[in-house]
Parts: sequence; structure tokens; C-alpha cells
Amino acid sequence: MNDWIARDEARVWHGFTQMASYATNRPVIVERAEGHYLIDVEGNRYLDAISSLWVTTLGHRVTELDAAVVDQLGKVAHSTLLGNGNRVVIELAEALTPLVPVDDPRFLFASDGAAAVEQALKIAFQYWTNQGISTRTSYLAFGGAYHGDTIGSLSVGSGGFGTDVFDPLRFPVMRAPRFDDPEAFVVAAKLIRDRADELAAVVVEPLVQGAAGIVTAPAEEFAVLGEACADTGVLLICDEVATGFGRTGTLFASEQCGLQPDLMAIGKGISGGYLPLSATVASGDVAARFLGDDLSATTLYHGHSYQGNALAAAVALKHLELIAEWDVLVNVRARSEELRSMLAERIEPLSAVKEIRLQGLMCGVELHPGDKRGRKVCAAALDCGVLLRPLGDVVVLMPHLTVGTEHLEIIVDALETSILEVAP
Ligand SMILES: *Cc1c(COP(=O)(O)O)cnc(C)c1O
Repeated sequence: MNDWIARDEARVWHGFTQMASYATNRPVIVERAEGHYLIDVEGNRYLDAISSLWVTTLGHRVTELDAAVVDQLGKVAHSTLLGNGNRVVIELAEALTPLVPVDDPRFLFASDGAAAVEQALKIAFQYWTNQGISTRTSYLAFGGAYHGDTIGSLSVGSGGFGTDVFDPLRFPVMRAPRFDDPEAFVVAAKLIRDRADELAAVVVEPLVQGAAGIVTAPAEEFAVLGEACADTGVLLICDEVATGFGRTGTLFASEQCGLQPDLMAIGKGISGGYLPLSATVASGDVAARFLGDDLSATTLYHGHSYQGNALAAAVALKHLELIAEWDVLVNVRARSEELRSMLAERIEPLSAVKEIRLQGLMCGVELHPGDKRGRKVCAAALDCGVLLRPLGDVVVLMPHLTVGTEHLEIIVDALETSILEVAP
């Protein structure tokens, strides 16, 4: 065990990680990065095939993004958005406006995806009370859903991941089936129509349930959901924290699903993976219900200290420019097709593999259940110089959106070797 791991174990508490076994599970202690590679304290290089838990989009140490942060540092790092504004935040909101699938959008910034979801839930609740309607207080969410780890976002999530201990704290919600149930959206739409007078909002991950293990549903199945919301007034909240910013091949997955949400949560890739930034996007109609006299009860009394951090906004603004300039979405779609055929040829035939699910550059390789197999495969991939992290029996492949064919080959090589080693 190197000294850094011991020092880490002694003082840093890692999320979703049992600290008693942390050090023996071969953690990589990153010191720096170059492009698609992370470099550890001993100089070993690892291809970052999980985009640092799904946040990095264009790669690490992108010259233009680095410069955007440095440039903003020369102006101001942070100033509060509570009652005041910041120039670069305004510019970011304006740049996002024509890109988000939300009508006449307003942006309530925060730092984490969970906070963006939490804000959306509170806005949906108050949207109704501001209209004098006190009965529409419930939410509909899906089986397998993951929306973050704060109590509200945990409540609309479907649980699991060892979080059962918090079940008594989760508020009850209506639950539609997981995306892999062919009836999921029909059931959801019926629940919305039958119980609209109890419902404030529906929360859904468009196209892909990420943390469920990259569980996908056909885009056209989402239409009934949008229609049921439009007909009943139940607000539609799309959680695009994982799917947003090109991950599924379009800038937002809602576009493919034909959904126009009333509220949308964005995070993860918004800053290219550089700085903690998220936002709740509200339609102009939703935002209008909060207007009233100064200091009146219709105000949204919610906000975080680092809301609209200027450094994060500056890098997010430059990131949007680069996505367009570099034709990133074209690369995502082309690499996705390549990855699909590589996986079909080399991974699907392996006896340990149960199913492969791919949408854009979001991929889950599900193994037949076995003794911590997902974990073991990812550990073996480290020896091949590829950093992976599983979701149970699902090995997640989430490469940077700018990878080339050669990087996909390295990832698939490592995956094949590792699966054969763990489950020959
Ligand atoms: C990761 C994720 C979240 C939570 O975002 P954090 O930044 O980790 O709080 C919420 N929703 C979805 C769909 C996610 O994938």
C-alpha cells in the first residue's frame, strides 16, 4: 500500500465506499491528467472510461476550458446570486436558453444534481400552493429511478444501493414500473390521468435510467407521458443530470423522446466535468406562478451559498461553445455505432455477459450475477490501464464524448481480457 492510500484512508471519507476495505480495493490516487487519461501518484496512466463518474465530457485539461477558468479568476471567482447578479452567469443562462427543451426557460443554479432535483420538487410543490391548490402534493416516479442522495431526491428515487437504512426518511411517492417493463409508460400515463388531482409532478430520466444500470427505453414510448402531463396539468420534471450535454447523442435526451418538460434538472456534464454546477430549468409559465409582491409568500425561498458560481459558469459557457465548434454530438453518434459493433463482436458472445445496453456513449454491460463480478472485472481492467466502476453486476462504460476509435478499442480490449479473467 503506498503512503498516499494510507493518508487518504486515514482522513478522507469517500462516498458510496466502505472505508474499512477502501484501501485493499486498489484505489487509484490521481495526481494529474492528460486528455483521456488520469495519472496516479506513481505515474501510472489509466484511460478514464467512466468520465470521472459521468461528469467529464471533452476530456481532462482541455486548453480552452483551463483558460476560461483562469480568465474568470482574473475577474471574480464567486459572488452571491441571492438578490444580486453576476455577468458570466447571465451570459451562461442566455447561452443555454435556445438549447434547452424548456419553453421560455429560467435557470435556478446550484452545485449538485441532487440539489437541482430537490429544487425542482420544491418548485413543483409551491407551483400548486401558489395557486391556492393544497391537494396536489404528491409525485410520480419510476421503478429503478435514481435522482440523487438528498432526502427529497432519494424519495423520488427507487432506493437500493445500500440506502435502505434511510427508507423511513423517504416520503411516499406513486411508483410506475422500471423502464424495462414494456408497460412502464402506459401504467405511468394511466396513474397520471387517474390521480392528477393528487399529483404535483412526474419525475423521469428521459431515455436512460443511468444508475439503474443504464436501463433504456425506446424514445417513442415517452410520448404518452408527455401527453398525460399536458392534458392534466401535472408538471413534467425531466432529470437530465446524467443524459444532458450530449451523452446520449443529442444535446438533451428529452429531444429524442419528444418531451418538453416544465422543469428540468441538469448537472454532471454542464461544466465539462470541471467544477460543481447544476441547475433547475423552469418554464416561463412555471416561473410566472412565483411572481407577486416583494417579500410575499409566492417567492421561492430556496437557494444555496454557491448558487451560480462564477468560475463554474465561465467554464460551462466555454464548454457550450466547444460542443458546437468541435461537432461533439457527431462524434458521440459515430463512436456509439463503433462501440455497438465492437461490443456485439467481442463482448456479447462471452458466456458471462447477460445483456449489453447502449445509448450514445452511455453503456451498461450486464454480467450474469456472480460473486462481486462487476467489481472484480473493474479491478482487472485496472491492470489493462482502464479505469471503470460498476453498478452491481453491470460494468458501466462512459467514455469522454471526444474519444476516438483507438480509445474504444483499448476499452473493449480491457473489458474482454478482464471478463475472461474473472469468469472464464
Ligand atoms: C448523478 C445523478 C444525480 C445526482 O447528481 P449529483 O451531482 O451526484 O448530486 C441525479 N440524477 C441523475 C439521473 C443522476 O445520474
